[in-house]
Amino acid sequence: MINETNPEKMYLAMKAKLAAVVPDFELKIKSELAAEINRLKVEKNAVILGHNYMEPALFSSVPDFVGDSLELARKAAQTDKDIIVFCGVRFMAETAKLLNPKKTVLLPSEKAGCSLAESITGEDVRQLRLKFPGVPVVTYVNTYADVKAESDICCTSGNAKAVVESLHTDTVIFLPDEYLAKNIANETGKHIIFPSLDPRKKFANELDYQMIGWLGRCEVHDKFTVEDIANVRKQFPDVTILAHPECSPEVVAASDFSGSTTAMIRHVENTSASHYLLLTECAMGDNVAAANPDKEMLRLCSVRCPHMNQITLEETLESLRKIQYVIEIPEDILQRAARAVQRMIAIG
Ligand code: SF4
Repeated sequence: MINETNPEKMYLAMKAKLAAVVPDFELKIKSELAAEINRLKVEKNAVILGHNYMEPALFSSVPDFVGDSLELARKAAQTDKDIIVFCGVRFMAETAKLLNPKKTVLLPSEKAGCSLAESITGEDVRQLRLKFPGVPVVTYVNTYADVKAESDICCTSGNAKAVVESLHTDTVIFLPDEYLAKNIANETGKHIIFPSLDPRKKFANELDYQMIGWLGRCEVHDKFTVEDIANVRKQFPDVTILAHPECSPEVVAASDFSGSTTAMIRHVENTSASHYLLLTECAMGDNVAAANPDKEMLRLCSVRCPHMNQITLEETLESLRKIQYVIEIPEDILQRAARAVQRMIAIG
């Protein structure tokens, strides 16, 4: 965070951090916005949380806290400010509301959705429970509150394995990310199936399974391929490749390291490879490059999340000025969904 309300000083501070990744003309415009956001933040007694996928000019300026969805959920739960401005996507802002329901939670753009969260509904989970009675439901936090409300416990990419193992059951329903589920199945040695909700369809392998998945995908991580990795390795044989577990199991297997956004950041900070390539959302690559100017970061950056991209300094300023867009969750959904998230938080 740059705690500055003077536009000129803000420009100089942002330039010192971001000159390598943000053009100067853009820094001039963005620094004025950031200075005004900082002024309003104090006036309105607000806290700003910034996800690792925020554009560099936002990520490095106004958030009081930055991190992955789990870290930011914890910060949301702990804050004593009146307003939480969530610079991330809707499911993250909803999670903040679940954990601190008395606060006003703002999402700066109504368009900040998520392909993964939109792949499943609460009704889908109810149908799965009917098909597999008694089997506990683990739901990735990248879902909306109505889906969390139907779940026993949530997880993030950082704690998914620990959450699955904490249940001590032979079988779990793990929703909705197909690739994360397959990667966790590989890590835990479990056999996974992807059932159809159509009662007419039956699969032979349904007789022998320990994980039940869902065919949801992140439209960003779905785009990385094994061919991408082979091409980069041809040019840079010593490169260390890090893949988010929302990438396909083939991409994860062809990489050198796989972990949550925070685990990837720590890996870059704590190792010394000749080059690094992050197979994840491209603004995060820029943010890691800005924070590690001594490391050589390669870019395969054709994949900016269109939902995260909706959150800009302009939208954040409007959000604070007009107190928009307020996250509302019906009380019965809120209580049940909060229980699933709090169970996860208790695990770590
Ligand atoms: S990066 Fe993927 S999972 Fe994250 S918000 Fe974008 S679409 Fe959703």
